[in-house]
Amino acid sequence: MKQHIFLASPHMSEEGYEQGYVKEAFDTNWIAPLGRNVTEFEKEMAMELGGGKTVALSSGTAAIHMALKLAGVGEGDLVFCQSLTFSASANPIVYEKAEPVFIDSEPDTWNMSPKALRMAFDKYGKMGRMPRAVIVVHLYGICAKIKEIKEICDTYRVPLIEDAAESLGTVCGNQHTGTFGDYGIISFNGNKIITSSGGGMLVVNTKDADKKAAKALFWATQAREPAPWYQHTEVGYNYRMSNIVAGIGRGQLKVLKKRVEKKRCIFEYYQRHLGALPGVSFMPMPEDSYCNCWLSVIQLAEDCPVKPMGIMQALEEDDVESRPVWKPMHLQPVFAECDFISQVEDLRILYQDTGADSSISGQIFARGLCLPSDSKMTEEDLQRVCKVIKGCFGC
Ligand SMILES: *Cc1c(COP(=O)(O)O)cnc(C)c1O
Repeated sequence: MKQHIFLASPHMSEEGYEQGYVKEAFDTNWIAPLGRNVTEFEKEMAMELGGGKTVALSSGTAAIHMALKLAGVGEGDLVFCQSLTFSASANPIVYEKAEPVFIDSEPDTWNMSPKALRMAFDKYGKMGRMPRAVIVVHLYGICAKIKEIKEICDTYRVPLIEDAAESLGTVCGNQHTGTFGDYGIISFNGNKIITSSGGGMLVVNTKDADKKAAKALFWATQAREPAPWYQHTEVGYNYRMSNIVAGIGRGQLKVLKKRVEKKRCIFEYYQRHLGALPGVSFMPMPEDSYCNCWLSVIQLAEDCPVKPMGIMQALEEDDVESRPVWKPMHLQPVFAECDFISQVEDLRILYQDTGADSSISGQIFARGLCLPSDSKMTEEDLQRVCKVIKGCFGC
């Protein structure tokens, strides 16, 4: 019987590092609340990134929430956020009763368009409304035009939050994603490049990083004031990572490089074996960057008779998991009231089935497909996937 092929699933180290750290926590009874794994995981992650002050939290979403609060986002504030992303990038804006304005992507990186970002600053600047923060994403591990975006944010003195949930291990120039923005966030959710079974990390890169990180830690641990009794002057959250979870994270960090190498091999394999199919292209690999290739994503030309959903169905019939590209936030009913800024002039619905429009992000969504990119995949698995896809093209 054929084995199920996952899109991306947890891949613990062959050496059993994770169990070693978890066992240490058991042996010392540091199951909770804190313990050595949490603080060591923070240190090791900061080392890996080569900078930043790290705070281990219960999820990447919690880390975005804390970053927004550190940026001073509150009720009625504007936040400019990349539209092409997972909803977790944008939801915390709403937790704070702020207003998201979604920004379109650009073809070179699939991530936030600096041009559209400038347009947004122009438009809202004229109304006397500066955003309180900007959220950029390195989708699928692809480096955004991060230096240009940081420059724009610096010009307007608006804090930049870098959603590096999917891009741990990606390097732009010679710097890790997550360390460019004033704040970076990483996720260790089950399908990410490494997983702690669920968790996240806030990376603070501001000049007053120690102070800011301490504040995030304070909010994340129920905002307890230093007093013998439980004293609170602010609303707190229960967002701290547990010592068991951190133990898994520490073990996984040891194999991050190996996972990135494997993911890159998977991407290269698809390029080699599917690159000649008519109308098939691949996610961009921006120059001067090293991509973690968290997921391998293909694009089908607008006039390609084969559609992403057709491939997805054919793969499913062979017990292989694939997934559409993230549906942009500006096309989501939950954010229907929010503004969307695009450099595409005549926005119109191009695809009736998905409701995708002619924006750059809309087209990437409508024509893209995430191929199985599980780091446990064998050469036979990759052959099997490619055979099914080629079959869709009649080859
Ligand atoms: C996974 C993900 C998140 C959220 O991380 P969690 O740890 O699942 O809360 C945020 N943004 C992006 C782009 C993601 O892919």
